Amino acid sequence: MSAPLGGIVPTIVVHGGAGRVAPEHHAEVVTGVRAAAERGRAVLVDGGDCEAAVIAAVRELEDREVFNAGRGACMTADGRFEVDAGIMRSHDRRSGAVAAVADLADPILVARAVMNGSRHCLLAGEGAAAFARRQGVGTFGREHLWTPKAQARYDEAIAGHAPIVGQADTVGAVAIDARGHLCVGCSTGGVLLKSAGRVGDSPLVGSGFHAAAELGAACATGLGEAIMAHVASYTALLRAAEGIDPDEAADEVCARVASTSVAGATATCGIILITSTGAVGVAHRSPHMSWAVAQGTETVVADLQRTLAPSTARRL
Ligand code: ASP
Repeated sequence: MSAPLGGIVPTIVVHGGAGRVAPEHHAEVVTGVRAAAERGRAVLVDGGDCEAAVIAAVRELEDREVFNAGRGACMTADGRFEVDAGIMRSHDRRSGAVAAVADLADPILVARAVMNGSRHCLLAGEGAAAFARRQGVGTFGREHLWTPKAQARYDEAIAGHAPIVGQADTVGAVAIDARGHLCVGCSTGGVLLKSAGRVGDSPLVGSGFHAAAELGAACATGLGEAIMAHVASYTALLRAAEGIDPDEAADEVCARVASTSVAGATATCGIILITSTGAVGVAHRSPHMSWAVAQGTETVVADLQRTLAPSTARRL
C-alpha cells in the first residue's frame, strides 16, 4: 500500500496472528482487529501519540479471548501461562519488553513500564513480575488468562489430536502519528505446548518488533524460532527502506521465514509495517492472518487474509 500524498496521515495497522484460524472464529478475529484499529485510530485523531494508539489497540486485543494474548493465551506443556510482549518507539529508539512472565493478563502495559520506567529493555520471568508489582502495573492471576478455548486446544494437543504449530492469534500493532513518530507493540502467549521458559520473537527487538525514525516500524508473527533466524521485523524495514514496495518487503521476508524448517515443522510468518513516510505493508505466509488498517478518518479496512497482486508477491 503506498504512502498517502501530502503529509503524514495518522495511521494504525494491527494483526491478529499468522496461522490457521478455525472457521468458527473467522468472523470474531476480523471483528477484533477492526475494533483494535478503531481504538488506536480514536487516539490518533484525538491528537494522541503513536505510543498511546499502539497501547490502546494491543490492550483491546489482549482482552479479547479469541486471541492468543492476555486473556485467551495458549498454554505451556505443563498447562501454565507464560507471556511475552514488547514495545518500541522511533523517536528515541527506546524499547521495553517482558518475557516468560507467568499469569500476566496485560503484558504490553508492563513492557511499556520497562521502556518508560527502567534503565533496561527486557525483563524476564520472576524479575519482570517483581518489577511490575513495584511499578503497580499489570494484572496477575491465572483466572484472568484462562479460557475454555485455550483449555480445549491444550487438551486436544496433549492428546495428539491437534497440530501444535501453526495456530494463529498472537497480536500486534504499528502506528504513525501526525508528527511522523512511529511505535510498535506486540503481545503473545507464545506457541502451544512450549517448554517452560521458552521465549519467542515477540519480546525481541529486531525479530518480533522494530521501530526507527529512518526506517519505520514493523511487527512479526508466526513461528518465533524461524522469525528470530531472519531478524524479520528489522529486515522487512530495511528492504522497504531500499525502495521496494512495503507489501513486497513484508512478503519477501515472510517467504524467507516460511522456507525455514524448525525441528521438522514448516514455519509460518506474517508482517505488518509502516515506513517512515507512512506507507503500509501487510503480508503473510500462512493460511490466515487477521489484519486491519485505519488511515486518518477513512473507513477501516480489515480481513482474514491478505492476497497480494502477483506482481507484488515475491517468489523465492
Ligand atoms: N511469534 C510468536 C511466538 O513464537 C507466536 C505467534 O506469532 O503466533 O512466540
